Amino acid sequence: MRDFDITSEDIASFSSTTELMEREWAPCRHNCPVHADVRTYIELAAQGHWKESIDVIRRHLPFAAVCGRICHHPCEDNCRRNDVDEPIAIREVKRFVAEHVGKNATVDRPEIQDKAKVAIIGAGPAGMSAALELAKIGYRPTVFEKFPVAGGIAATAIPKYRMPQGVVRIDVDWILAHGVELKTNIEIGKDKTIDSLTNGGFEAVLIATGLAKSRMLPIPGLKHKYVLPVMEFLTNLAFEKKV
Ligand code: SF4
Repeated sequence: MRDFDITSEDIASFSSTTELMEREWAPCRHNCPVHADVRTYIELAAQGHWKESIDVIRRHLPFAAVCGRICHHPCEDNCRRNDVDEPIAIREVKRFVAEHVGKNATVDRPEIQDKAKVAIIGAGPAGMSAALELAKIGYRPTVFEKFPVAGGIAATAIPKYRMPQGVVRIDVDWILAHGVELKTNIEIGKDKTIDSLTNGGFEAVLIATGLAKSRMLPIPGLKHKYVLPVMEFLTNLAFEKKV
């Protein structure tokens, strides 16, 4: 089978075969930080198989819609089409597919989820991705988030003109559909402790809080009332608070 000859039978067998996944990696895939199967999802999108395309993307990238907006697309630096004229707009194809059918991507939720309850602190990409993988193999993850929304920096610090909240929700809702519970407005260490989680039935706790602290410049005057750390500024902006 040639790479670009994907038949409807091939698509139908995606869930039962790794043949397409095992094809030799293209240069774009090597450059992608998550090694997304670029060639397959671009081929599927080109053939109008958008739902199958998003399913392939999401095998490596739960936050497909978010990445469709903000990934710096190193895959395109390695696109073979550069030898001819310019790279395929890989990220834009992902953005189109994710925003059009991302909500309807296949949900691979097991019938029985009766393994241990796991508490995950932080609903950013790391915490939500961990919750997704745990739910897929039968665990019962609950994600605790101090902000009112899930998505991490994408939802709480990237300005809306660059990352509309609805785009983050596409990925978050798809993850939640796998049996992930989300509890927002709860700050662990303030509203609850790790001990209270383990005493409350959670058998494991994953700390996925990220590094959302601003890095300050070593210059005088930082304590001035009009000097704001960048994260505080962006978060206030994202939640439309007075800056
Ligand atoms: S746009 Fe980013 S996430 Fe998507 S394939 Fe390229 S490098 Fe990977």
